[in-house]
Amino acid sequence: MKTVVNRAPIVWPSDNAPAEDRNVWQAMWRGFRGRCPQCGEGKLFRGFLKTADNCSHCGQDFTGHRADDLPAYLVIVIVGHIVVPIALSIETNFSPPVMLQLAIYLPITLFASLALLQPVKGAVVGLQWAFRMHGFDENNPEK
Ligand SMILES: [Zn+2]
Repeated sequence: MKTVVNRAPIVWPSDNAPAEDRNVWQAMWRGFRGRCPQCGEGKLFRGFLKTADNCSHCGQDFTGHRADDLPAYLVIVIVGHIVVPIALSIETNFSPPVMLQLAIYLPITLFASLALLQPVKGAVVGLQWAFRMHGFDENNPEK
């Protein structure tokens, strides 16, 4: 018995990708400002951390992003790299009372984290859009 082999050319999804390049830094900056990474006009968020379903200006679908825990992780890294060196420097040079230090560092850490969370999430969504990751891939066969 002869085995039938399928000789049809394989068309990889990436071969169908449009040539249009997406500017990663521009998309991340637009997302950082809470704007649509594609047009820079429409709002990216409809809540503090809840992305809108679509861009109100160009209609870009935002439901495909997979930011997950990355924004929170990045905020911890960023705020930690700002607050910890400052706290160590002040402790080394001035040694103020611990309660005074806690009364200053804890609120600064809290508010800096809350202030950065939405912009960082926007930048992550912009990054994913620019690289056509996850749901931003027009050729995703699972879409
Ligand atoms: Zn848009």
